[in-house]
Order: sequence, then structure tokens, then C-alpha cells
Amino acid sequence: MNALAATNRNFRHAARILGLDSKLEKSLLIPLREIKVECTIPKDDGSLASFVGFRVQHDNARGPMKGGIRYHPETQDFRDIGLDGQGYSKILESHITFGLVTEVDPDEVNALAQLMTWKSAVAAIPYGGAKGGIGCDPRELSTSELERLTRVFTQKIHDLIGIHRDVPAPDMGTNSQTMAWILDEYSKFHGHSPAVVTGKPIDLGGSLGREAATGLGVFYATEALLAEHGKSISEMKFAIQGFGNVGAWAAKFIHGVGGKVVAVSDITGAVKNPNGIDIPALLKHKDSTQSLKDFQGADAMDMNDLLIHECDVLVPCALGGVLNKENAADVKAKFIIEAANHPTDPEADEILSKKGVVILPDIYANSGGVTVSYFEWVQILLGSILSSDMHNYITLILCILVCVHVPMHVLQNIQGFMWDEEKVNCELKKYMMRSFHDIKAMCQTHNCNLRMGAFTLGVNRVARATLLRGWEA
Ligand code: GLU
Repeated sequence: MNALAATNRNFRHAARILGLDSKLEKSLLIPLREIKVECTIPKDDGSLASFVGFRVQHDNARGPMKGGIRYHPETQDFRDIGLDGQGYSKILESHITFGLVTEVDPDEVNALAQLMTWKSAVAAIPYGGAKGGIGCDPRELSTSELERLTRVFTQKIHDLIGIHRDVPAPDMGTNSQTMAWILDEYSKFHGHSPAVVTGKPIDLGGSLGREAATGLGVFYATEALLAEHGKSISEMKFAIQGFGNVGAWAAKFIHGVGGKVVAVSDITGAVKNPNGIDIPALLKHKDSTQSLKDFQGADAMDMNDLLIHECDVLVPCALGGVLNKENAADVKAKFIIEAANHPTDPEADEILSKKGVVILPDIYANSGGVTVSYFEWVQILLGSILSSDMHNYITLILCILVCVHVPMHVLQNIQGFMWDEEKVNCELKKYMMRSFHDIKAMCQTHNCNLRMGAFTLGVNRVARATLLRGWEA
């Protein structure tokens, strides 16, 4: 089942549980705006290359739309190149054979944008949902080509994003440097606007702890779920698919409290060690070789076996749709933490719940990234208000504080409007714990599993906001 059909199905199920009016249901499902732009850039060798960029803005009832921009090797929009459904699935198949799932096609981006709407609502942060991407293979483009592509994409969408409209962030294949280019290009049109993106470099107003945030959120979410079942991370064996922005951080935090990571995979290979992998050593190895291959502290394994490896907790951190009807019955884990977006398709969901596997859903499990994005955005907005209109008052207050000998670090915080990493992580933990309890409450009220608990929580919050705002007459 494709990502959009799967996401819509979960949404409809939640809407039924909540008894939503069918007109409201339809309005919540249809994206507010779908943007598709052509981006042509000169390559370093002087030739031209054309790419298709997308931004789907799903909903803004609870606040500005929010979500990542991903760069991933999707070939082309199949509707443009005149392929029928079968031709398209052939492209998909060939991608899957090479370990790549098409992650930047319109339906996929649509599904991801919708998931962001529910995710922000579950996390109780005042955002709607959006997602974007460019069909390209960032590994095949030089840094200057990536910069040109990012700038052209920003030129095409600059009047549709904005601090109070739609705030992009990093995702698969993009990073803080990509956000710096977007910020710079956007600012040429709209004046200096550091809050137009999150996940920026620290030097441009990014938040401490943002890079680790999704992985740390996964860690807190896992802790909460296991505690609920009378267990702790230190007594569990973990298999982790993906060793990048999310998986590597999650593995590090899990290993840090004594959890045994017995298998890890990424696009370069897979390794296993039944006694637990030394994660800091694996990180060092990956840093120096860019690969998991030839790591001395573990045995190589087939990366396709990662999902069915012997473990207590499976953490898919990479691609969508990896758990499906082909492999779900063979999963050994008792718990699945969805660190990736929609890693489990509905057929697998059914098979796994029949087996008694407990699944912590993506719209909660990976919400740490967007939550710290929110902290970053608020710090920037607060900083800019204080440094403009209220600047004189603040200076006055600071002078008074100096006179009454307030400790220096307190003054630095007030001046910089920047939380230290400990504060960021501590706030993130509070948000993750609160959402977990809110989801559990929905599960009890509606007698449903965690996925439906999270969906009903998110959808209900968005539905309430929509009804309160009303529709134009
Ligand atoms: N790309 C991340 C996600 O899918 C973060 C989005 C954001 O920070 O806006 O949740």
C-alpha cells in the first residue's frame, strides 16, 4: 500500500473513532496547498540539470506549517513521464532492489506532510504540517551544485513559506548547511529572517541539541514505553535500522544507559554482535570510513535481515514502508519504536498486533526533532522582539541586574536568549513524557492501540482548532 493510502487509512480510522463530521473529515484530509516547481541549475561541468521540487502544505489550523525538506533520489514524477502504474512500480522495484525506496514523490510528500500535522498536534506545539523535497541524489551533487539547487528551489517557493506561514527544517539528505542556504536566499527577498527555517547552524541562531533531538526523543519515548511495561532500556536488546541523523543518536543514548545494541544497519551494510556493539567505536569507524563495513567489533550480516534479527526492541530509523506483509510475520522483537516516518504499512500493522508486538507510532516516537525546532523558533522570535522594540528596556533591566550582582551566567542567558543544551534536553523530556501520557489517556478512553491513541489525540486537537476558527461564509 502506498504511503498516502496508508496514512489516509489511519486518519479515517481515527476520524471514525472520534465520530468526526464527514465534511470536517474531508477538509482535514485534503492538503491546503501542493506546490511543485521545476529547478534547473548549471552543473559544475557547464551542463544543465533539471529537478522537480515539492512542498505540500497540509494544514495550518494550529499554527504555521512545519516540516522537513528532503533530498532523495526519486527519479521523476511518473505522471509527467507518461508511465502507467505498472511502469511506476517497476521504478519502485528497482529502487527497492538497491535498498532505496522512492521517498520524494508527490504522494509520499503528501503523506509526510499530513503526518507532520498530527505529529505537531500530538507534541502540543503550535504548528501545522508540511513537507517538501527535491528528487535528487545529494551524493551525486557537489557542494556548489547542492547550494545552487537549494537557492533555486527557495526562489521558487519563497513567497509561500515564511516565519508565520511555513517553516522548513532538515530531513533525509539535507542538514543545517541546507537550512543556512535557504535562510540566506529567503532573506534576500524578505529581509533577515532567521526564524524562517529551523535546524540551522548554531552560528546562525540554531538551537543547541537540535541535531541530537530526534534520536534523544526516540530514547525518551522508548524509556516511557518500556517503563509502562515494567522494563528498562538496560535489560533490552536492540536492533537499529539506519545509522544517520536519527539512528546513530538513538543508538548512542541507548548504549549510554547500558542497552545492548545487537544489530545495526545502514545503506552501506549491517553488523551484529549478540553481546552488544560498542556504539562509540562504531560511530568512530563510520566517521572515518563513511561505512559500517569492516568494523572489527562485530560480524557483518545481510542488511535485509536486520528487521527480523533476534532482539527485544526493533528501531526502524530510516525509510518508510520497510515493515510489510512480506516480513512482518518474521519479526522477533516484542516492541517496535517507529523512529522513521511510517515504517510499518497497515498490513504489517495487523500481522504484528496479532503477534502481540507493541508499536510506538512515528507521530509520537520521532517528534523530538520538531519539538526542538519549536524551541529554536521561539528563542529566535523572542530574541528579535527583545532586540528591537524592547531593546532599551532590556538594557535598562540588565544594568539594574548588574548593579544587584546577579550571577554572570544568568545575564548571559538573558542576553543571548539561548537555552543551554541541558535546558533543551530537559524541556524535550517534559514534552515527550507529557505526550506519552496524553496518548495513553486516549487509548484508555477509546480502547485502542498506541497508533490510534496518537492519531485520535492529534486529529482531535486539529479538529477542535479548525472548528474554533470556523470557515469563511
Ligand atoms: N524532519 C523532521 C520530521 O520529520 C523535523 C521537522 C521539523 O523540525 O520541522 O519530523
